[in-house]
Amino acid sequence: MKYLNKLFNNISEEDWQSWEWQLKHSFRSIKELHALGLHESLTDVEDKYPFCLSPYYLSLIDELNYGDPIYKMSIPSIYEIAPAIYNEPDPFEEQKHSPIPGIINRYKNRVVLLATNLCAVNCRHCTRKNTLKNIETHDYFDAIFEYLVEHTEIREVLVSGGDPLMLSDEKLDWLLGNIKKNEHIKVIRIGTRIPTTLPMRVTHELAKTLAKHSPVWISTHFNSPKELTEEAKTACARLVDAGLPIVNQTVLLKDVNDDINILKNLFNGLQETRIKPYYAFLGDPVQGTEQFYVSIEDALMLENKLRKEISGLCMPAFVADVADQGSKIPIRDLMTVATEQPNNKE
Ligand code: SF4
Repeated sequence: MKYLNKLFNNISEEDWQSWEWQLKHSFRSIKELHALGLHESLTDVEDKYPFCLSPYYLSLIDELNYGDPIYKMSIPSIYEIAPAIYNEPDPFEEQKHSPIPGIINRYKNRVVLLATNLCAVNCRHCTRKNTLKNIETHDYFDAIFEYLVEHTEIREVLVSGGDPLMLSDEKLDWLLGNIKKNEHIKVIRIGTRIPTTLPMRVTHELAKTLAKHSPVWISTHFNSPKELTEEAKTACARLVDAGLPIVNQTVLLKDVNDDINILKNLFNGLQETRIKPYYAFLGDPVQGTEQFYVSIEDALMLENKLRKEISGLCMPAFVADVADQGSKIPIRDLMTVATEQPNNKE
């Protein structure tokens, strides 16, 4: 928060708690952060990858350097375009598994629906960082709804993006209503980082709108205990109180959370917030994210230590996404499966 005074004068509490104010004042170029002393020329990075940062998420940074976990997850760096071993823009071939724009179908009875390409913060470790700019969401919902009607084997739809909670309440109501019109679709899951990056967006009205279409599960993405602020906890409480169960997917990230005490605090904190830690993912081998990779060996060591330290309810499954495996793979089984995993080659 101490840095914000250099960027804004006298922000009222009312403005700060308004998600519209936050979006209006979000940063979309590193130049806008020059007042903070960030003068590194990152034009090449910004040309290649999207950048957006909410004032709220910026306020969680304690130190303006790469050692700060929030800084590392949100401020562009030259490492994103440095030569890397893994240079796949789309390692899971989501484009190949996309029968129509906006649908990814990698599994038999569930699909991913890309509702928008917008996010409150463009995470530097994002799996879709190479494809987000390509998602065109204008006027393609008719074809998506038709696809859902025709594919009666689909039981569950994961609404993703970008971040679907960037859409207005009205648009979400319309979207979820159209999905749930199909009797064969029993469950909607919403993948979102909004409770972490722009928690004030989770108003009572939004929670009520989502709950209208229950069962709707919320899948959050908290990576650091620093993200579990009072604002974030309030946002999650609103969702749970409205009848929306929450599970959390954490990505293991080097120098962000590859530490037993950090993970312990994170997973315990999530449980105290009524969020079930669901998955701890090994980072995907995506172009532009190698600086975040945690090795399989380190991930296994963290899993084994953690199991002795926290209750089963706090313990997520440690898994990796591996192309064409049909499901997530436990990290402990990975030595035999994923010979292509990045840090395995070190
Ligand atoms: S909010 Fe999700 S989709 Fe958006 S940049 Fe972050 S990880 Fe990627």
